[in-house]
Amino acid sequence: MDSNTYLQELKDKLSDTNQTILIRSLDSVESVEIKENKITFNVTDEFSKDTIKESIKEIERLSSGLLDGNFSVKINLIKGKNAVKLPSHETTKKTDDKVKKNDVNKKVQTNEEVINPEIPRLNPKYTLDNFIPGENSRFAYNIAKAIAANPASEYNPFLIYSNVGLGKTHLAEAIGNEIKNTLKYKVMYVTCEYFINEYIKSIEKKTPEQYKNIYRNVDVLIIDDVQFLEGKPSTQESLFNIFNSLKDANKQMIFTSDRPLNAIKEFQLRLSTRLNSGVAADLQPPPYETKVAILRSKCKLNGYDISDDIINYIAENITSNVRDLEACLNRLVPYSRLIDQKITIENAKNTLKDLIFISKDLSNVSIEKIIKTVADYYDVPSIDLRGKKKNKSINEPRQIAFYLAHDITQLSLTEIGTYFGNRDHSTVLHSINKIKNKMKEDTTLSETIKMLSNNIIRES
Ligand code: ADP
Ligand code: MG
Repeated sequence: MDSNTYLQELKDKLSDTNQTILIRSLDSVESVEIKENKITFNVTDEFSKDTIKESIKEIERLSSGLLDGNFSVKINLIKGKNAVKLPSHETTKKTDDKVKKNDVNKKVQTNEEVINPEIPRLNPKYTLDNFIPGENSRFAYNIAKAIAANPASEYNPFLIYSNVGLGKTHLAEAIGNEIKNTLKYKVMYVTCEYFINEYIKSIEKKTPEQYKNIYRNVDVLIIDDVQFLEGKPSTQESLFNIFNSLKDANKQMIFTSDRPLNAIKEFQLRLSTRLNSGVAADLQPPPYETKVAILRSKCKLNGYDISDDIINYIAENITSNVRDLEACLNRLVPYSRLIDQKITIENAKNTLKDLIFISKDLSNVSIEKIIKTVADYYDVPSIDLRGKKKNKSINEPRQIAFYLAHDITQLSLTEIGTYFGNRDHSTVLHSINKIKNKMKEDTTLSETIKMLSNNIIRES
């Protein structure tokens, strides 16, 4: 396994455990060397070095599994183009020295970030360049670009809202990254949960002023997922004060929420009025063409070799959000590495079956569709499937239709029975159990039913 593949697989494994800060640090690893039983991570900043170091045991354990053998891990701090810029204010003597040595910019990263790995950091992978706008997101994207070029001018605060997985965090962080990198402003990105926890800590430590000052002392403040402030009046109050200070000082603020603020219960009106006082933009699920463009862009960025027909297949079938599109790619890539060849459309369909199934909105699968699909496949008239006829050629298809109706739709056994010539719910249940048992023994039948189910869902 080459070192890039190794690093990617390590990150994949860690992503299951939700260790975002560690993954972010691994994202910034400059190179990896694997020699004999030693793995060396070359990093260019102390923060990543420290974060990786903290999890060295876990990394060694995972690496030994991935690379088949016992491996020890070493982290090497090297000078590189991405060297993190340390702050110049409120620093300890130690960091002050480094600042001088490295001659770096002043307003890039706060001291807290360097010392405390728990502080959420801007993820450098979120950029405006790799955000693909479509009809669904163009307004939000254009505002984001305008803010990145000219913070705190026209669009302040900027409120982005949408359902999950549609790019709020990406867009908000992309603005932050752009401003941080080009204008060298001090950008503070926090998740709302972090914001709340820090507030609670400040009360415990009796240091609420210190807490507020941290946030007042930035050029750009980004708070992700403000819906979590619901029912937290004191934290809301605190944000209200911070907001007013930053607004008076003409600093840019960006907030995201999974719903419009007036839909959040127990949210102070005066705070929501403030957060809404600039510009708000929503993100909708992308249309087909944008989905294809996003998938292609992700493949290009990550060096995935996935054919167009598979990309089109994913775009056609995933209707939920962009995160689910990515999940499909992340499922395919390890698979194609495992079989060590380019994945075919048949393999892809098979590998993605459950993901596509989960992401489908099944509420509009109609029982008529199920009856028609089963009738066509077994070449029997739909009317007979629903009727009283009892012979071998019709019994099994009918039972399969019961099974599929129960599996795919939200209908109750009684409702299903009603569709099929007013049959009793116990008859329906009995038939479903019969099919379930048959499927356990008869793989051909079980494959056929899966195939029918996929067709029904895909075409609904
Ligand atoms: P949210 O914060 O709305 O839940 P995220 O910003 O975390 O969503 O987006 C989920 C994933 O989808 C991220 O990996 C992000 O990079 C990706 N994504 C979302 N929208 C786009 C887009 N328009 N172009 C490229 N990637 C996108
Ligand atoms: Mg988010």
